[in-house]
Amino acid sequence: MNIHEYQAKEIFRKYGIPIPPGEVATTPEEAEAIARKYGTTVVVKAQVHAGGRGKAGGVKLAKTPAEARDVATKILQLTIKGLPVEKVLVTPAADIASEAYVGIIVDRASKKPVFMASPAGGIDIEEVAAKTPDKILRHPIDPRYGLRTYEAMQLAFFLYSDIKQVRAAARILQQLYAAFSGNGGSLAEINPLVTTPTGEVVALDAKMVIDDNELERRPDIAELRDESAEDPSEVEARKASLTFIKLDGNVGCVVNGAGLAMATMDLVKYYGGDPANFLDIGGSSNPEKVVAALRIITREPNVKAILFNIFGGITRTDDVANGIVSAISENPLRIPLVIRLTGTNEEIAVKILEKNGLSAMTDMDEAVKKAVALATGGKAA
Ligand code: GDP
Ligand code: MN
Repeated sequence: MNIHEYQAKEIFRKYGIPIPPGEVATTPEEAEAIARKYGTTVVVKAQVHAGGRGKAGGVKLAKTPAEARDVATKILQLTIKGLPVEKVLVTPAADIASEAYVGIIVDRASKKPVFMASPAGGIDIEEVAAKTPDKILRHPIDPRYGLRTYEAMQLAFFLYSDIKQVRAAARILQQLYAAFSGNGGSLAEINPLVTTPTGEVVALDAKMVIDDNELERRPDIAELRDESAEDPSEVEARKASLTFIKLDGNVGCVVNGAGLAMATMDLVKYYGGDPANFLDIGGSSNPEKVVAALRIITREPNVKAILFNIFGGITRTDDVANGIVSAISENPLRIPLVIRLTGTNEEIAVKILEKNGLSAMTDMDEAVKKAVALATGGKAA
């Protein structure tokens, strides 16, 4: 789950990380009032679940309250990486002497949280990673011990040479690790971590991603979810208990089981198509889940054909067939549908489909080939 910068900052502050104050506004007038209260130059920052806001015009300095209102008006009209801006954070501007990057991600290869630190932080960190990777220090963490002081000092010496700044940064790194591990993070990041002309070390940005599997035991964190800032398809899928990830391809896939869903996507690629999504309707699927799945997939204009690939074990294929029939009667399909099903109650499922003018295949390869051909107009490699 993504959370906003202002929410991540609230968490980081609780762990002692030095962060300038800030307040959230949803209208230009609110932004103006907050700027007036601070009585100094402020930064107005788009609150969306996307990086690169600075480059997209979503982070602007304002010297006066009137200017804060004007930049807030512009930022609240922006769409950044497909996400409309509905809130801005207004925060007193800091003077910046240097910008560094510090972050933690869970590295699947080493099965550990890994710290990353770079003295070349700021809005071009992706470029630094691509072109001058030696400017980024990576340091895996043993979660039994966390980030020990000598490790924090080593990382901090990579950022600064002034010993006071090194000590301040080392403390911040340990606080960041505590915030990350104490809240079920899968990512925690400060970019930029700045030094001010008077030598202080301060976090000006904050990003945190929470592992979805942590939400059940952390209701206070789960409450931070902002559905208005999420993709509507993913919101609907979550409510229907579907595991759904949107992709950019042309073949919409409805599959039961994550393994079969992955195999189906591989096969779609193999036959020259491109999956439009990952969608797992789960083990014991009821017809309503199928209806929701079809509604979500058909909303995407890229999708040119739909492929059902159902292996009936616990899942009853007749449930799926009933779901398909009721979804189509509610909302007739405008694109071709290929159904492959086999397993539990297969004969009943086939009868239900045939009674409604549909048919099913049993061979997975043949079904995928057919769906790809329909999606690409036969032009697939
Ligand atoms: P991002 O582009 O989405 O990562 O947004 P950031 O919060 O990192 O802001 C982008 C850039 O704006 C930073 O790298 C800074 O250069 C600049 N910026 C952000 N806050 C301040 C501030 O308080 N003062 C000044 N002078 N610049 C800031
Ligand atoms: Mn940033």
